[in-house]
Amino acid sequence: MPFLKIHFVWRDIMTILEEVLESNDHFVKHLPEVYCAIKQHEDKLPNRHLAIVTCMDTRLVDFLEPALGIRRGEAKIIKNAGNTVTGPFEATIRSLMVGVFELGVKEIMVIGHHDCGIANTTSHSLIEKMLNRGISKDAIQMIQEELERWLDNFKYPIENVKQVVEKIRTNPLIPNDVPVHGLMFYTHSGKIDIVIDGYK
Ligand code: ZN
Repeated sequence: MPFLKIHFVWRDIMTILEEVLESNDHFVKHLPEVYCAIKQHEDKLPNRHLAIVTCMDTRLVDFLEPALGIRRGEAKIIKNAGNTVTGPFEATIRSLMVGVFELGVKEIMVIGHHDCGIANTTSHSLIEKMLNRGISKDAIQMIQEELERWLDNFKYPIENVKQVVEKIRTNPLIPNDVPVHGLMFYTHSGKIDIVIDGYK
């Protein structure tokens, strides 16, 4: 079957970027009606008035939102490795500020997940890999203290959720009337447990 053979060879040499662009081309040409119906301007605002801080874990992609009943246009989703907050004005806090003051966010959920990879990562192992890839010692020294504070404190995902909720709740840049909830997500079943009920 010469045709199939050629097809497989072509797939092998496609870059990730080419694969994505090919999918995009197909998507745009056959744009599902559900996406055409969205009111582009109105739905820029999260119409459930919700911001979610969660992990960049790949298992959450296309899984967390449906598990929470959240659809396109309904929430701001802020992601980073281990759903962490490392300082009073770092990227997550900045995004939350824009959400609260510019986009009508009224509640925040911090959603961690079981089996989070950050719990098994240490600053030591990360630095070793960085050095092996040619990152200079000077560059590492520049961030080492913050790196240790971030990675070496993250042992238990549930504890991390509690700490991050507390950091957001007590951040002087976030208003007191915004409830901050803490939740844990199971990546295999999609179940959510409450760790901190922000209304209490
Ligand atoms: Zn994670």
